[in-house]
Amino acid sequence: MSEKAKETEENFSFKCPICSEGILKITHSLYDLPDKEKMLILKFECNKCDFNKNDIIPVETQMKPGIMTLKIVDEQDLKSKIYRAPTGRIEIPELELVVEPGRSAKFYYTNVEGILFRFEEAISIYRNNLEVNDPQIQGIDQLLDDLKKAMCGELQFTLKITDRLGGSYVIPQRKENYTFEELSNEGIDTD
Ligand SMILES: [Zn+2]
Repeated sequence: MSEKAKETEENFSFKCPICSEGILKITHSLYDLPDKEKMLILKFECNKCDFNKNDIIPVETQMKPGIMTLKIVDEQDLKSKIYRAPTGRIEIPELELVVEPGRSAKFYYTNVEGILFRFEEAISIYRNNLEVNDPQIQGIDQLLDDLKKAMCGELQFTLKITDRLGGSYVIPQRKENYTFEELSNEGIDTD
């Protein structure tokens, strides 16, 4: 593990916006990333209902626009941390899965497993809305099967994040499985 997390817990008397009975507990964690980037993670948790929320704030934005390519060889690589900004495009070419960047996209901080889980969830919802005899079902079931294997580290794949504005970040578990290709900010098509 190359990043160091310092956790501090502080109690503020913020009333929970959801149940308006509980008190929100706020936890700060400051992560030092390998190239001196710092990220502040704020966790909000209610002590009455199950409301919880994470906010991630890059403290010093030295993040560069580029293409991040992470090879997932086994379970260890699944623990690599991913910080995805709304400007980041996520792709798993072997499974033909893509999440396009967009204004409605959320910031999130997760690991590779978390991304696979999000894909599985979205695909399962899509599948459950199809008719039982829909010809797409066979292919979708195959994909869900591959995702399960990927989640157990039984399927090797590539996770590619392209971020032309430089807001996304990967913290690889093994540096040898990670490459970063810097993109220049000039000549960006804004179509
Ligand atoms: Zn609450």
